[in-house]
Amino acid sequence: MVSSTPRAWAEISLARLLENHRLLRAHCSMDSMAILKADAYGHGALAVAHALENSSTPPAFFGLASIAEARQLQENNLRTPLYLLGPSAPFEREEIILRRAIPCLSSLEEALSFNTLAANLLPPHDRLTVHLALDTGMGRGGFLPHELLANIQRLRSLQHLDLQGIGSHLSKADEDPHFTKCQCALFDQIVEQTGPWKWKHLCNSAGLINFQSSQANLARPGLGLYGISPVANSSLHLLPALSLKAHITLIRHLPAGHSISYGADTILQKDTTVATVGIGYADGYSRNLPPLTTHVWVKGQPCPLLGRVTMDQIMIDVSAIDAIQAGQQVELWGDHIDISKLATQASTIPWVLLTSLSPRVARCYTPLNP
Ligand SMILES: *Cc1c(COP(=O)(O)O)cnc(C)c1O
Repeated sequence: MVSSTPRAWAEISLARLLENHRLLRAHCSMDSMAILKADAYGHGALAVAHALENSSTPPAFFGLASIAEARQLQENNLRTPLYLLGPSAPFEREEIILRRAIPCLSSLEEALSFNTLAANLLPPHDRLTVHLALDTGMGRGGFLPHELLANIQRLRSLQHLDLQGIGSHLSKADEDPHFTKCQCALFDQIVEQTGPWKWKHLCNSAGLINFQSSQANLARPGLGLYGISPVANSSLHLLPALSLKAHITLIRHLPAGHSISYGADTILQKDTTVATVGIGYADGYSRNLPPLTTHVWVKGQPCPLLGRVTMDQIMIDVSAIDAIQAGQQVELWGDHIDISKLATQASTIPWVLLTSLSPRVARCYTPLNP
């Protein structure tokens, strides 16, 4: 049996992703932890991990949300150390130790629990590599500064843990320079007072583009890796690694006065060539996108969205396009439709749009060396 070409697909350039990685590292002059959580922001964690691991400047770590995400990479023979970005639930600790994933610890109790488990699960004289998390204002995990200062001796004395790194997370590096500078300063101060540390990491994409820490030697880029700058007017020439595309399934000529989509709240003002496109909110094309002011890109031109986004289909106005036919490709976002602007139109953020791409959207990779 033949399989038809997918209706909706994400065209992903691993070459661009590697170039973004190179640019980000060069910009901050640090080693990197490539953030591959949430299936590499929808780009496919396995493909992205293989490309990065085999590149000329591989990252020092991959950053994952959970041991389940780390397991997927490990079971597919990736060798880069796997760092878990958030706290680990008690029921996850055994697997973390057995897989030698690297947890970040937020409390003495958590450290004691890992130490005891590691004593039982690891060969004698072997230690579990861990990092400590420091809460400089994010409020999601980590030691408070005074807690870390009070407990650092005890933590360092735990025999089955190897405290190799310390990390903190910036909560508004894309919004508030003053607050962010205070977070950086606090991080630098506590790192200095509790060191030495092999790995010191603080900056997400926005942080590494705009801020500096005197102590950090490892950056944790996510969004930037995928070619989207979280800050406007960055001088870095990041290129989006993913373009969302779909095919037109039907073309019709509808008269002025006809209504389009659920709610019938778009009424055609003139006779219009309407294309139905095989993508909808179940694919991850946001239902919040407003008709008429949202555009898709068809044959070198922007075309307005007509009516509400439905589960599997959208309608667009292709009256301005010559010789339009069913089967024509449409770009929903990518090189011509900026995902950050689209996210703003949908009252959301590019992270949400990328991670909302559903399994129904085929992932198509352009060859690394075309
Ligand atoms: C997701 C995440 C990042 C990456 O953030 P971006 O803004 O996408 O670069 C970095 N660090 C931690 C702890 C994260 O959870």
